[in-house]
Amino acid sequence: IVFTLILSLVIVSISLLIYTQVVSTNEKAAALLLKTSRQSELVSDIRGETIDVYRSINLFLLDPTDGNHRQIIHDYIHQAKKNNRQIQQMLQAQPGEAFQASAELKQKLSQLEQNVNQLIETRLDVNRQYPAMSISAFEMGDMQSVVNSQFSILLDEIENGDFEPESAKIYPLLLKTETLWAKAISQVRIYLANRFTSFSKDILVIQADSLESIYYKLMHQLNNLQALYEQETESFEGLAAINTSLETVQQWHKTFGAVRKITESNHWREDSHLMKSSILPLLDDISTILFSIDTHLKLAEESTTRSLKTNNYKLIFLLVVTIVLFLIYILAIHVSLDVMIFLPISNVALALKSKAFDTQGPDLVSKQSKETQHLIDAFQEMDHQVNKRQDALEHQALHDALTGLPNRVMLHERLEYHLISSTRNKNRFSLLMLDLNNFKDVNDSLGHGVGDMLLLKIGERLVNCVRDIDTVARLGGDEFAILLPETSKSKAETVAIKICNCLAEEFQIMNHPIHSGASIGIVGFPSDGSDSKTLLQHADIAMYNAKRNRLDYTFYDENDDEYGRHRMIITNDLREAINRDSLELHFQPQINMQTSKISGAEALLRWNHPDFGYIQPERIIEIAEHSGIINELSNWVLENAIRQCSEWHSSGFAISVAVNLSVHNLVYKKLCDQVKGCLDKYNLESKYLILEITENGMMANPGRSIEILKQLNSMGIHISIDDFGTGFSSLSYLKQLPVNEVKIDKSFVFEMEQNESDATIVHSIVDLGHNLGLQVIAEGVEDETTRSSLEKLGCDYAQGYLISKPMDADSFLEKIKSTAA
Ligand code: C2E
Ligand code: CA
Ligand code: CA
Repeated sequence: IVFTLILSLVIVSISLLIYTQVVSTNEKAAALLLKTSRQSELVSDIRGETIDVYRSINLFLLDPTDGNHRQIIHDYIHQAKKNNRQIQQMLQAQPGEAFQASAELKQKLSQLEQNVNQLIETRLDVNRQYPAMSISAFEMGDMQSVVNSQFSILLDEIENGDFEPESAKIYPLLLKTETLWAKAISQVRIYLANRFTSFSKDILVIQADSLESIYYKLMHQLNNLQALYEQETESFEGLAAINTSLETVQQWHKTFGAVRKITESNHWREDSHLMKSSILPLLDDISTILFSIDTHLKLAEESTTRSLKTNNYKLIFLLVVTIVLFLIYILAIHVSLDVMIFLPISNVALALKSKAFDTQGPDLVSKQSKETQHLIDAFQEMDHQVNKRQDALEHQALHDALTGLPNRVMLHERLEYHLISSTRNKNRFSLLMLDLNNFKDVNDSLGHGVGDMLLLKIGERLVNCVRDIDTVARLGGDEFAILLPETSKSKAETVAIKICNCLAEEFQIMNHPIHSGASIGIVGFPSDGSDSKTLLQHADIAMYNAKRNRLDYTFYDENDDEYGRHRMIITNDLREAINRDSLELHFQPQINMQTSKISGAEALLRWNHPDFGYIQPERIIEIAEHSGIINELSNWVLENAIRQCSEWHSSGFAISVAVNLSVHNLVYKKLCDQVKGCLDKYNLESKYLILEITENGMMANPGRSIEILKQLNSMGIHISIDDFGTGFSSLSYLKQLPVNEVKIDKSFVFEMEQNESDATIVHSIVDLGHNLGLQVIAEGVEDETTRSSLEKLGCDYAQGYLISKPMDADSFLEKIKSTAA
């Protein structure tokens, strides 16, 4: 959990980091890109403005008088300067090369403005615009005037007659020279005019060369004139004028040289010179600077994009790291779960499995995590407890709960073992079957508690009588078996005598002196049987033989076999008959003596054995009691009797049914529940059920049986004391019993007409019963005299052959129907 928390924190922090990083970088990059694009825009504006400046200058040069052009030029320059200022402001934050370039641009733009102003001024001033023309107009013009006036003086002097040259050559030469001079001047004019009309310098050179030849000719003629005037004596003025002309022409020629220099150079027209020499280079510079700014901006943009890209790589890297961390985390969890939980658990499971099936497997005790150790501990504890319980169960399965002696199962096992080992070793062994003689009486009269104690003591004595290798087992009830290995029948007889002597001694149980005896049957291997079943059967037969003959012990004798086997078969068959529902109930009517109508019926057990035919009910009951199936039998009777009675009720005869119970049933705790369950099942009111208990039975275990009878009685069930008069119950005791009816035993009824004392007994029972508020019924009513005597005595009900013998359910129904009609 700690690991998970830490990892989650790390992952969350990384994610946050990535998030903030991405957001801030992207914002920065966006702002930068925006700025750069704005700057680029401004740069391109400036570029456009410079182009406009250039175009406007050209327009201005073509038409300098239009003031608009000048204004436009200045506006564009101003706009460019303004835009540059903005760029500068933007770059101020991080002054770099772009900023320097922008500063340079500012300077260039100012210079451009200056130069443009100069150009405009030059263009508007003709003299400044064309310097050669100015020189020729002013300087050369003056000189031409001087020379022209000299020629006027010279010609006027001759023509006025003031001077009559000696040489006839002078005057024509003067005229000729003046004409040549005029030609020289016009040649200069042609030269200058050619400048405007021709782009080629060649023509200018030709013109200049022809002027040169004119000049030399002129100089030659002027020199000749000078020489002629020097020989003249009359004209003093003439020589001076010639000398002045000579000097001035020389000067004029020299000045023309200067004009020519200008005219044939780029300076001939100042505006184009300015354009070429200062404005165009400036514009070029500006363009270069703009280009460099652009380049820097592009670089900045590229670096921003690059940083964005790097950022993206960083992001991808972080994402990959996060994913890898997460995968590591999952892997770690998987591995740790595997190592700490799954593997140990599967090991534990394997170990437990191998332990369960007792095969080779991993060891449970090894270093484990706390949780798995707990699990192992829990399993080990469970294993321990299961083993303990299994041992206890095994012990329980093989031992008798009361005495702790081996039970029938264990005896069987040991018998099987000795059968095998004795057969192999050709040995003999003996088996004693022992049944207590008067145990039933002890149980019935002193109660189960005492009976159980007696069984315990007897078990102890038996164990003390035999060797350690012998097995004393309790088979159930008061039946014991003793297995004597390597013992002949004669030695077994000695043991039997010893046992009888042991048991003959008095027992003291809860202050009751008890004398017990036993009947022992003895069998030997191999003479009396070769398998455990036969040996046990034969021992049983021998034991019954001893009991029947009231002997302490007998050996098995083939001749006794018949009776014993018979009994055993009957016992088994009875068990089966109950389960298969093949028993029968017959019903004997009971009449109300006052109305002579059938008031009820006693249910009596009938069993037609497939081999032995009719078996007396007393015998069936005795066998059932002896073999411990009396509860099952009574249940069967109860259920069938109640069902039958319920059927009668359905047919319209609301009579009761009497069911006989054995004393053994009265110690059975579930009796009440079962009776109630039956009544509910067949929807019969409890008052229609009569339970008959013999007087002796009721006295056998008073405390316990009264408890149960009270419960039954409180449920509304009638209790009847059967065979009343044969027992020894005190009359006062009868008062305390939860009974509703006494049933006078048939032995008194049979002879009451002949036997005084029987009649007295019957009489007193009727009175006594009535005094206690009980109903009285007489059984065994065989003749009419007895019936009328009983009627006179006030007996309430009668039952006997006189009225009807017991009969099957169908006949009984016929019977009630006929009497009712
Ligand atoms: P019991 O309870 O005293 O039943 C009356 C017996 O007397 C019945 O014999 C009946 O057939 C016989 N009896 C009735 N009237 C006369 C008569 O006028 N003359 C003669 N000679 N006998 C008469 P049964 O059916 O053989 O029953 C014998 C005994 O078996 C019963 O004596 C009862 O103790 C026992 N028994 C029968 N059925 C059951 C049963 O379902 N449960 C228990 N626990 N005992 C039963
Ligand atoms: Ca009866
Ligand atoms: Ca009876």
